[in-house]
This record gives sequence, C-alpha cells and structure tokens, in this order.
Amino acid sequence: MKENILGIDVCSDTYDELAVKLLQDIDKGRKSFIVAINPEKIMKAQEDRELKSLLNQATYQIPDGIGVILASKLKKGRIRERVTGIDMMLKLCKEATNNGKRIFLYGAKPGIADEAKAKLEEMFPGILIVGTLNGYEKNEEVIERTINDSGAEIVFVALGSPAQENWIIAHKEKLNPSVYQGVGGSFDVISG
Ligand code: UDP
Repeated sequence: MKENILGIDVCSDTYDELAVKLLQDIDKGRKSFIVAINPEKIMKAQEDRELKSLLNQATYQIPDGIGVILASKLKKGRIRERVTGIDMMLKLCKEATNNGKRIFLYGAKPGIADEAKAKLEEMFPGILIVGTLNGYEKNEEVIERTINDSGAEIVFVALGSPAQENWIIAHKEKLNPSVYQGVGGSFDVISG
C-alpha cells in the first residue's frame, strides 16, 4: 500500500511485509528498487521535478524519518512505523540468509565494502555475500560484468543520494539481480 505525501509515494508496509514482497520479487525474477524517504528529500522534491520523478519511480519508498510518519498521521494515513534504510538492509540480509539468496555490495571507499561484508558475515552466519565493488570504480563494463557474474539476487548500492538512485534506474534492466536498495553511508556505518 502507498500513500501520497506532498507528491511523493510512500509505502505503509512494515519490515516484515516488505521482506515478503522482496522475496517474491526475487522468486519471480521481477526487478524492484527501494529508496529511503525522509522529510528533507520530500521538501527538496517540491522544487526539483527530476528528484520527484526519481523517488516516485522506486518500487518501494520506505518512510525513513519521523516527519514522514507525522505527515501521514496528520492526513489520517496508515504509516505508523519508521522503516529506516539501514534496518531495511539488515532485515533483507537476515531474510536472504534464511532463504539462501545471494547479496552484492557496491559502493563506498576502497576496502569499506569488504569490511562491511566481514561484519555482516559475523552478524548473519551463513549469509551469502557473493561480491563487492568500491563506489569509485566507474568503468561500466567492469561494474556490470562483476555484478552479473557474481550470481547475486540483491544489490545494496552505497553511492549517496541521489547518485545511487540514478545509478539503479540506469542499470537495473541490464543487470541480473532482482532487488536493489540505495543505502547511502550504510557500508561506512556497518564497517565502522
Ligand atoms: N560514494 C561512492 N562513490 C562516489 C561518491 C560517494 O561510493 O562517487 C560513497 C561514499 O564513500 C559514502 C557514500 O557514498 O560511503 C555516501 O554516504 P552519505 O552518508 O553521504 O550518503 P547519504 O545517505 O547522505 O546520501
């Protein structure tokens, strides 16, 4: 279910509901992409039509910010729970581990995605992180080949916003994985 907040669609699903949908996307081979919505992005999108269109093109806009919950409450909407980018990423890692789905980490400074991989492997024993690439690798051919050859079904993209959303929209049809999430500085947080 989606609600429109000042022109931006936002999902009212919980972590569990989103996880079910994302696993279905993988099983059906459907492309989907998750973007975190906070009040700053909603305000910026009021004057930036490109950003507005970018945010509305996502499959799942998650309500990452108390201001978004408040706006929904004021218009008697259904969004009750904050769904943060990093917690959604961790939830997806957990579900991927339980269901044998493969993950790729793309973004952040050289070495950081590998450190995040090692941390995630400690947090989720059995997790399948099948590849990493730093976010300063800009050779399109290398990026596409590395991701496609990895056999990943889920890609976390940590290039910052809106670069990561632009990247996902421009590449997802050419790539094999189903699910894409823009995660900002999350690899830095997890590795640190
Ligand atoms: N980054 C990258 N490639 C670039 C520019 C930035 O991989 O060309 C990474 C940067 O190293 C950092 C992340 O993108 O890990 C951006 O984090 P930030 O917290 O600024 O993201 P936000 O969520 O605020 O957009």
